[in-house]
Amino acid sequence: QQKAQREASGLAQLMERTVSDTIEQIDIVLQTCAEEIEQQLAAGVDHKAINALIQRQYKHLPELNVLRVVDETGQALYGVGPSLESGGLNIADRDYFILARDSRWPTLSISRPLSARTTAERSVFLARRINRPDGSFGGIVYTAIPVARFQLFFRSLYLGPKSSVTLIDHEKNLVARHPETEVKDMSTLLPLAERMFNAVQQHNPDDGVFSIRSPFDGVERIIAYRKVSNFPGHLFVGLATDDYFATWRTEFTTMLVLLALILTTSGITSRLLFIGWKRQHELNQHLDRQSRTDALTGCANRRENLEALEKERQRSLRYGKPFSVLALDLDHFKSVNDRFGHPAGDEALRHFVEVAGNSLRALDTIGRLGGEEFLVLLPETPMESAVKTAERIRLELEATPVPLTAAPLTLTVSIGVTAWTGDEADTMEKLLFRADSALYKAKEAGRNQVQTE
Ligand code: GH3
Ligand code: MG
Ligand code: MG
Repeated sequence: QQKAQREASGLAQLMERTVSDTIEQIDIVLQTCAEEIEQQLAAGVDHKAINALIQRQYKHLPELNVLRVVDETGQALYGVGPSLESGGLNIADRDYFILARDSRWPTLSISRPLSARTTAERSVFLARRINRPDGSFGGIVYTAIPVARFQLFFRSLYLGPKSSVTLIDHEKNLVARHPETEVKDMSTLLPLAERMFNAVQQHNPDDGVFSIRSPFDGVERIIAYRKVSNFPGHLFVGLATDDYFATWRTEFTTMLVLLALILTTSGITSRLLFIGWKRQHELNQHLDRQSRTDALTGCANRRENLEALEKERQRSLRYGKPFSVLALDLDHFKSVNDRFGHPAGDEALRHFVEVAGNSLRALDTIGRLGGEEFLVLLPETPMESAVKTAERIRLELEATPVPLTAAPLTLTVSIGVTAWTGDEADTMEKLLFRADSALYKAKEAGRNQVQTE
């Protein structure tokens, strides 16, 4: 945007310079004519000489179609331009005539855009006063710049399809504008001129930049303006935001699309990676679970069971908590297989794990050491409570027969109980040995019972 502002300012400066140089050139012609005519008025008028002068000077204004001299009543006397009707031409009512006549200082009078009397072409008239030898008003010399000439010049600088150049005079008249094709009647641009003019008054009167959405064509523009140095008006160069940002927007959009593409593809990649990782992770977890689980009953296997026992021993050692261990062995299990078959024996084993599990707390664990031998771990449990738990398991199993298809089978279990001594020296091996001894005692004492070591 800053770049656009700078560019618009530069263009406004360039155009202002060109416009004011042109006016300067025209004024030199007018002044030359005025001075020579004043000399003639003092020395005696030579009509031929004046006509020759005007022809000569007119050559300096190839793009203009009039250079004329009128007397103090506004009546055309000499000149080049469209031929006059019979009875001549009188411009006494024209503002530039009145301005030149009434001005006290020798200045260039510039009209607002007017329709030329002879051609009806909209033009800006420029005039210089001619003084008589006594200083009184003797007429004017004037020329006219057709508005079309301004527009031709404005068009010569290509600024983009929607950009604009506007010349507005100090009476808020829109002198010329490019593009003019969209405007048939210049007076429809009055609100635009009004707004531009107001914008200038809010800013620096000599030059500045502002943004405006044109009330005329709805185009948003960055507008740089400059006061024209020898013309009562301002020149406005408007770069359409659309034109100016078109390239930038294209680049920006391309960049955004690329960025989105990168993000999307990297998103897809990471998603694929994530899915792959998740699958691997799930597989690993599955394998891990399998390696710790007894395939037949679903409880912890021997390895898991013994690891858990050692972990519990370490934990209890650190926190100074008690824990107990139950060694369980199903009674006369060989005969279950013998009487009902191996599958029924398997069913009985699953049944036992389920019943025992129901008698345990959430943190207690049951594991299968092998065959029909199990180990129960009771964290934070002293001997007394452990015996109660063991008794509960035993009673529950006795009361819940295995629902075999042939006939319900009552299963019993012998349980040895031991509690950890709280001593580091009380190793896993020692614990297991004591639990086993207690179990042996229970078997010896007649099975289906709980014993401590
Ligand atoms: P006790 O009361 O002295 O423990 O007698 P028991 O028959 O239970 O003891 P023993 O150790 O002699 O027999 C264990 C039997 O358990 C041997 C085997 O047939 C059976 N058994 C071990 N593992 C499985 C198994 O996975 N499935 C089945 N169906 N039977 C098993
Ligand atoms: Mg056994
Ligand atoms: Mg047994």
